[in-house]
Amino acid sequence: MTTTTVNLTVNGDRLNRNIAQLAAIGQLANGASSRVAFTPEDLQGRKQVQQWMVEAGMTTRVDAAGNIIGRYPGQNSDFPALATGSHIDTVPVAGDFDGCLGVLAGIEVVRTLKEHHICLQHPLEVIVFTDEESSVIGSKAMAGEANPDPEAYRRADGTAIEDCLAKIGGDWSKLPTAQRDRTDIIAFVELHVEQGGVLESKNAQIGVVQGVVGQYRFFVEIAGRANHAGTTPMGDRKDALVAAAEVILAVNRIGFQPPGSQVATVGYLKASPNASNTVADKVELTIDLRDLSQSHLEALIEQMRQEFDAIALKTNTEIAMTQTLHIRPTLATPIVEDAIEQIAQQLNLTSYRLPSRAGHDAQETGRFADMGMIFVPSRNGISHSGDEYTSPEECTQGTNVLLQTFLMLDRLYQ
Ligand SMILES: [Zn+2]
Repeated sequence: MTTTTVNLTVNGDRLNRNIAQLAAIGQLANGASSRVAFTPEDLQGRKQVQQWMVEAGMTTRVDAAGNIIGRYPGQNSDFPALATGSHIDTVPVAGDFDGCLGVLAGIEVVRTLKEHHICLQHPLEVIVFTDEESSVIGSKAMAGEANPDPEAYRRADGTAIEDCLAKIGGDWSKLPTAQRDRTDIIAFVELHVEQGGVLESKNAQIGVVQGVVGQYRFFVEIAGRANHAGTTPMGDRKDALVAAAEVILAVNRIGFQPPGSQVATVGYLKASPNASNTVADKVELTIDLRDLSQSHLEALIEQMRQEFDAIALKTNTEIAMTQTLHIRPTLATPIVEDAIEQIAQQLNLTSYRLPSRAGHDAQETGRFADMGMIFVPSRNGISHSGDEYTSPEECTQGTNVLLQTFLMLDRLYQ
């Protein structure tokens, strides 16, 4: 590393001022932020961010999926770009940091480079992805994984995706043109707040993300036989609720079972007829299963099927399991993951390797480019709430890691 770049740091005051300025757009009376995708507040936020990109020295364009792409030229215009970014749309009641930090950090990195007259070998892109909080259409379209059926993207209020995209400068009819590949983006690094409490509990300042977990969801139907709770002898029952209880405990045991870092949850249950004097004849429940390893997930699902067969036999019921969701895990690329860890060390920041159990745009960009994520702590592990908080110092530290990671990757990818 040259002496000119080794001590290079971002302007933390300016970064944190931008975070507060963006949070003020769509601010609710209780201080929380609300910029749901495609609303006037989201549009206003997008306009502000685009203006900052231009002032920072980037050219900007909006692709067919509505993604805002800011580009800072590199010395070699034929090199693929290094890229960063995140989202500025929010859940209906949100904090100031989820997504916004990653976008504003990217802009701050470019400003810092420009102010110091540094031009990387690779072009550097800062991307604002469309609607991360709901459809993830922006990063999915970029990965070529968007659903071709526009009905899949109709908003809860009935608005068509064609109209939503038109509002932000996108174009549904040209959606496939938003797709990128490795020849034009070689690596994507996203800075994000952890949205969990691991870093805080480990006393770590920087999270080195190992990947974004894959997710399976199942709908389970248990069929028994309804009968009188007084006159039906215990041994003659087909009690769907008793089977459900065993299913829930089996899922929980699988969540705890070593090895692996899986989490397994039954979060929804509906019994019928749901009457105090009747043996239940039907129970519906859901299973949510997440882990970093696809093969481990598949092994756990096979184990579940076997255990459920045994429970069905024991309780004289029938248990049917239907898959309703499958998102493949995306592992961080070792070259990027290691770079982030080394940079944290060089900056004297404590770091900890962990998986991301929440979805992020990097999960999609990581399907076509090398990928890594930097986490900074979330106070008390709270996110998707007005109480979400990451200190100005932590935001600045994460952004410095992002800056130095790009300086390192710029050399590694030659
Ligand atoms: Zn986010």
